[in-house]
Amino acid sequence: MAGRIRDEDVAYVREHSHIDDVVGDFVQLKGAGGGQKKGLCPFHDEKSPSFHVTPSKGYFHCFGCQTGGDVIAFLMKLEHLTFTETVERLAERIGYQLTYDSSGPSTPGINRSRLVAANTAAAKFYQEELGKPGPAQLGREFLTGRGFSREAAETFGVGYAPDEWDALYKHLTALGYSEVELNTAGLIKEGSRGNFIDRFRNRLIWPVKDISGDVVGFGARKLAGDDKDQGPKYLNTSETPIYKKSQLLYGLDMAKKEIAKKRQVVIVEGYTDVMAAHLAGVTTAVATCGTAFGDDHIRIIRRLLMDDDAFRGEVIFTFDGDAAGQKAALRAFDDDQKFVAQTFVAVAANGMDPCDLRQSGGDEAVRDLVARRVPLFEFAMKSVIAGYDIKTPEGRVGALNQVAPLIGKIKDASLRPEYVRSVSAWLGMEIDIVSSAVKKSGSRGTAHNQSQGESSAQSVNLKDPILMLEREVLKVKLQAPELAYPWADLEMNAFSYGPYATLRARIDDAPDISINDLLERTEDDVVRSLITELTVEPIRTDGEISERYIQSIFARLREVAMSREIVEIKSDLQRLNPVENEVEYTATFTRLVGLEAARRAQKELAIGEAF
Ligand SMILES: [Zn+2]
Repeated sequence: MAGRIRDEDVAYVREHSHIDDVVGDFVQLKGAGGGQKKGLCPFHDEKSPSFHVTPSKGYFHCFGCQTGGDVIAFLMKLEHLTFTETVERLAERIGYQLTYDSSGPSTPGINRSRLVAANTAAAKFYQEELGKPGPAQLGREFLTGRGFSREAAETFGVGYAPDEWDALYKHLTALGYSEVELNTAGLIKEGSRGNFIDRFRNRLIWPVKDISGDVVGFGARKLAGDDKDQGPKYLNTSETPIYKKSQLLYGLDMAKKEIAKKRQVVIVEGYTDVMAAHLAGVTTAVATCGTAFGDDHIRIIRRLLMDDDAFRGEVIFTFDGDAAGQKAALRAFDDDQKFVAQTFVAVAANGMDPCDLRQSGGDEAVRDLVARRVPLFEFAMKSVIAGYDIKTPEGRVGALNQVAPLIGKIKDASLRPEYVRSVSAWLGMEIDIVSSAVKKSGSRGTAHNQSQGESSAQSVNLKDPILMLEREVLKVKLQAPELAYPWADLEMNAFSYGPYATLRARIDDAPDISINDLLERTEDDVVRSLITELTVEPIRTDGEISERYIQSIFARLREVAMSREIVEIKSDLQRLNPVENEVEYTATFTRLVGLEAARRAQKELAIGEAF
């Protein structure tokens, strides 16, 4: 054990590690008012953000699972580190040299920083080996053959594991790493005679980094002509305390900022595909490391996309077009339901992967692939239909029986009529026939799908005064945009009815409002018909559309939205203990007071009108 870190140093590190930066490495945060930020909680599964960070105080708190604390507590809990490891990692992050109490540095124990250091040293070793004469030539040829220049290889830290039993072992033990450390890091393994040998030999090596950019393991590819190597084509670091394949995505350290910014992630299949995509300008590409895309990966990506009900990101899978890819797409029908984000599939016509594509068609071909993505639902249904001869009635009925349950499985009920229409076109069948097949398949199996569908669109009471108010504001915005000046001030939660909220988002997407432009940008049928409806429906004022009237309906809508938030904050306050959670309590209470005042102001403005 190393000595204890001095208290002053712990305090310094705590004070100088900005909690929103550290949290921001893992969770996409957005402003939550009152100097707070919020995002999707990394400690429990949720769809709308209840994980709050108060940068000025250096604290976080999740109102969903009640996890909270300072920056050290956050990292400790998230990365399963000891207190000392956490402080060491934060110190490293801000470039601060720690001092230890007691008798100076003693024998270092196995901790995360030692394992990362060993992996980093190994990566450097492999990288240098790639430049050497001799068998490394095969590795360099592989890269050139895939269209990667020397600079590209350097950017991604590609290396070569020499064709020797213990070259890395010797190198790292000479640097002071123990056998136990190297074995724990997965860099060496026990040979048949009880001695230690290198895990990777005569292979091309990709360092795998975690989301914060630390090297935690490697992916290694067998090179042509190596008949001695009986192992698989790709070999990865086995599970270690820092290499958890279910939580790693190759390229994520480079892509995470772009993923958050573009609200898009492109899932490719291998290390060379990630390289090709990034070099071609698709900077949101990542790949799994020797495992299928799973729930943990979905959670990590959702946090970066801030994929909640209000905001939508795009998840684009590049499957190859063969049977395996189609199977994967069908499986993803279930996975997709965990993603609120829109899931798309990008498949090259000739079944090429991004790496092949870049070689044959250049960077543009890779960008094209992503641009020509199709919704996962469409891809999967067309894959099923392709298995039937739809020129015959038997083939059409067979395909329909397979496809109908898929439509029923679509979680977003408003999309189902759309796919009923599409499938009827693809199969050349009547819409009614497809529609009733979908209904039948739903009543057979998944009853909950149906009830979900009914509640979302049809059974909403549009005579509800709040919904009428929301509708009125939208009408003003569409019919008299020059008078709708308080529009930009509307609260995020101003529209409670889904299609209205969607329409608001479409309006906000558009630079200026032209009805045709809006219709072009809108796929959802319910929202499309809303656009035309609200453009023609008369505004409900008696005489002229006065400024006074507009001011008052906007103010009333804002008042309602604020009231909604006040209810939420009050329930937050009830859950907080003013003594134990003093900081959060005070912050929350301050927000409440501010919001109450703002609501009173809106109420004043709204007085005297019909709503
Ligand atoms: Zn939580």
